[in-house]
Amino acid sequence: MTDTSRSAGAPIVRFAPSPTGYLHIGGARTALFNWLYAKGRGGKMLLRIEDTDRERNNPEAVAAIVDGLKWLELNWDGDTVSQFGRAHRHRQVAEELLANGHAYKCWLTPAELDAMREKAQAEKQPLTIRSPWRERDPAEAPAGVPYVIRLKAPREGETVVDDQVQGRVVFQNKELDDLIILRSDGNPTYNLAVVVDDHDMQVTNIIRGVDHLTNAARQTQIYDAMGWEIPIFAHVPLIHGPDGAKLSKRHGALGIEAYKEMGYLPAALRNYLVRLGWSHGNDEIMSTSQMLDWFDTVDINRSAARFDFAKLEDLNGHY
Ligand code: GLU
Repeated sequence: MTDTSRSAGAPIVRFAPSPTGYLHIGGARTALFNWLYAKGRGGKMLLRIEDTDRERNNPEAVAAIVDGLKWLELNWDGDTVSQFGRAHRHRQVAEELLANGHAYKCWLTPAELDAMREKAQAEKQPLTIRSPWRERDPAEAPAGVPYVIRLKAPREGETVVDDQVQGRVVFQNKELDDLIILRSDGNPTYNLAVVVDDHDMQVTNIIRGVDHLTNAARQTQIYDAMGWEIPIFAHVPLIHGPDGAKLSKRHGALGIEAYKEMGYLPAALRNYLVRLGWSHGNDEIMSTSQMLDWFDTVDINRSAARFDFAKLEDLNGHY
């Protein structure tokens, strides 16, 4: 039976940063949007540190993210969850997908992968990995060679992401690979870990950067394979510099602590951040309680926001 109570009750959102860098403007805005959405509706915001990539994991970054959120007064509910600490659960779900026929073990060799890559390049086609192990008998597998686990993704039809900001986004299944869910070292990939965690943490709304939109299609396929309810997605456009180009250090890709040091007030920064991609009429200055009353993901703009130090400076003068 489909559980419809999730989307109907108080929302549960999460902020899920990867601790590879400090809390920058984009991350802080994502956290703020999540916080406003949940707290404005009597819901909860959870904090999950996505630290499965051990090589890129940086404990100092975790501390900076936590400090940045605290300084911005974006409180979260419950304990901070470490994604790495849940690897056993991710493996369990990968095994379940194997057992129910929604995944398979794949012994594709680097040479076979190279050949596919070259063929795609020669034909000027995007690389779509098609593993023969989807059909092959695992008994034929080479002895002692490690394998990955791939999702048996649908080959025909479409995967649709119904997004509150981006609208109905359609992906052609023939263009999507059989996603690797477990690496040969037994570690989960990002998409598997995110789906399992969001499901187990009963997340109802996923609010994050639009750079994760393709992942949403992948994740939808995993939700479907597990028969789990798909959360409501809202993929937020990126923040550009005042010149329309990628946000540079000079224009705000600084850690939040830099703003604190420059003397900006948390309330001013929140007010500035909320208006990067969202607005409420012509209101420039908003109290936090007004933001909580007014904010809604469905009103987020689809086009990229522009960072403007002068505006931040101006707003700060009002606090
Ligand atoms: N860890 C991802 C990031 O920092 C976000 C994942 C997500 O929100 O689903 O970009």
